Amino acid sequence: MFLTLPLGAKETQRAETVIFQYGTLEALLEGVYDGDLRVGTLSEQGTLGLGTFNGLDGEMIVLDGEVWQVPVTGIPQQPSPQVRSPYASVVPFKAQRTGIIGPQPSKDALFRALDGMAPNPNLFYAFRIQGTFATLQARSVPKQTPPYPRLTEVVKQQAVFEHSNITGTLVGFRSPDYAKGLRAPGYHLHFLADDRTAGGHLLDLSTTGELAVEILEVRDLRLHLPDSEAFAGAKLSGDKAADVRAVENE
Ligand SMILES: [Zn+2]
Repeated sequence: MFLTLPLGAKETQRAETVIFQYGTLEALLEGVYDGDLRVGTLSEQGTLGLGTFNGLDGEMIVLDGEVWQVPVTGIPQQPSPQVRSPYASVVPFKAQRTGIIGPQPSKDALFRALDGMAPNPNLFYAFRIQGTFATLQARSVPKQTPPYPRLTEVVKQQAVFEHSNITGTLVGFRSPDYAKGLRAPGYHLHFLADDRTAGGHLLDLSTTGELAVEILEVRDLRLHLPDSEAFAGAKLSGDKAADVRAVENE
């Protein structure tokens, strides 16, 4: 059955904003590290987001329409548009709400402050958070070669980068608990330094100054799935909540 009622003005406006996601978190957990989505195609779907690259070759940051790759060296680089990803999520970012958040002792404290600006636990939110971080801990992982180990094994080899007084931008999403399996539930943020010398998956932080927060509320999610034998053969049943916590360092 088709919806024949005309969309209201509010709905029309919101229909523009779709999170595009390629692959699923659970497939990544099971070692499906090769996809067929090119970076050039991904960047047509949104200007802000995150993900990883084939072979799990580093953390992806999409900021202001640019795709950055932070390999295990910790030094960001811009991948060729032909490079492929097994898992990524982007949105055409336009701030709906902005705010300033004062000093925060930890990542968890920042997340509670962000909760106050993103009140609906059952919707998706995208964030762009800019400022100077008194301390910031980020990680990347080493590129893998087949046969691929599970993601919980790979994160045991992660490289952790410790920064102090670093200025840059956090980008990412907060996803509802019910989205687990598809994406990381809760907050998932990646960092990129203003001078493009550092970045990675956010592990922890503290701030002594102010952060400028931009938020976009999203009600549409478009999921595109890999056309590969690895994805077809992945065992995507059972409760993987503990594994998700392990790989996200929650
Ligand atoms: Zn990440």
